[in-house]
Amino acid sequence: MQSQSSSLGEFDLIQRFFKTQSELMLAANPGSVRLGIGDDCALFKTEPHEEMAITSDMLVCGRHFFADANPEWLGWKALAVNLSDLAAMGAKPLGFTLALALPEANPVWLEAFSKGLFAIANQYACPLIGGDTTAGPLNICITAFGSIPKDKAIRRSGALEGDDIWVSGTVGDAGLALAALQQEIDLPKTDLEIIQARMHQPNPRIKLGIALREIANSALDISDGLLGDLKHILKQSNKDAEVFLDQLPKSATLRKLSADIQSQYAASGGDDYELCFTASSSKRDVIAKISADLNLSLTQIGSIKSMQHSAPEIHIVGNDGKELNTQEADLLLKSFDHFV
Ligand code: ADP
Ligand code: MG
Repeated sequence: MQSQSSSLGEFDLIQRFFKTQSELMLAANPGSVRLGIGDDCALFKTEPHEEMAITSDMLVCGRHFFADANPEWLGWKALAVNLSDLAAMGAKPLGFTLALALPEANPVWLEAFSKGLFAIANQYACPLIGGDTTAGPLNICITAFGSIPKDKAIRRSGALEGDDIWVSGTVGDAGLALAALQQEIDLPKTDLEIIQARMHQPNPRIKLGIALREIANSALDISDGLLGDLKHILKQSNKDAEVFLDQLPKSATLRKLSADIQSQYAASGGDDYELCFTASSSKRDVIAKISADLNLSLTQIGSIKSMQHSAPEIHIVGNDGKELNTQEADLLLKSFDHFV
């Protein structure tokens, strides 16, 4: 699209910070990409027995990151959150587009952004295939494309009564890091340094999602908070859940804090990008094997129940073995809502 020109020129900017790296990636491994940056559209080869998974995520300055955020981390995270959506469906990444609004064409910022972006793009073999660049308030929108064998996508709507509920890795660290950076909670500097990476450079669980294609009945990635996100599975599957707070997987850093704080962050801290999935209890052995193969902890945190009332509910069992009352549960469920 035509826009006001910046000092660095739109086409020079695209060439220098995006097109060259993209061409290098595609030369090494074109995958399904037939045509990358440079024409009016990119082209993918389509495979007869595959379906395409498509997802977009927008990162808005002042909303999802601070104006002075490290651009290298931003580049990483902008793609990571999209790859995490592909992972949640069991899709393999094919490529992505980048729509970028920039207040100014600052080469130092762009160099660092591009470095973080291509670090993760290379790690997950997901090439940049096109986009749009314009002047405007800083806004980063990525659309990622993935492929899944026909009918094998893991949907939110597939949870079955009796399914175990599982969570990958640990939850709560990214929310804790944000609270510490905003000075809402006191953390020793060394602890903050350890968990900051969880917030800035999440690792999308692509291999796990692919391994779960034939195993999980439902899945999603945890972006807003574990219990709030689990509710999306319950709503689309018309089910209730029982979850045990003392089984939520927490990092050593989070486990240093009080029991209440641990539960709060693990249950509803956002931005972890772990996967939450449900699977029949007959799959426990294969899930243990996937965990060992991927060197990634997978923790059972509860189970899917039939829906008792007109809306899905999560019965949260506290550390003392008793179910939380409505007020206590509400406090835990206050997961981050973008429009509050
Ligand atoms: P058009 O005007 O036809 O939409 P543009 O002039 O906006 O095309 O872009 C020229 C080429 O550069 C296109 O192939 C487009 O996909 C690509 N492109 C533009 N911005 C970016 C970006 N931020 N990252 C990657 N590719 C981009
Ligand atoms: Mg065009």
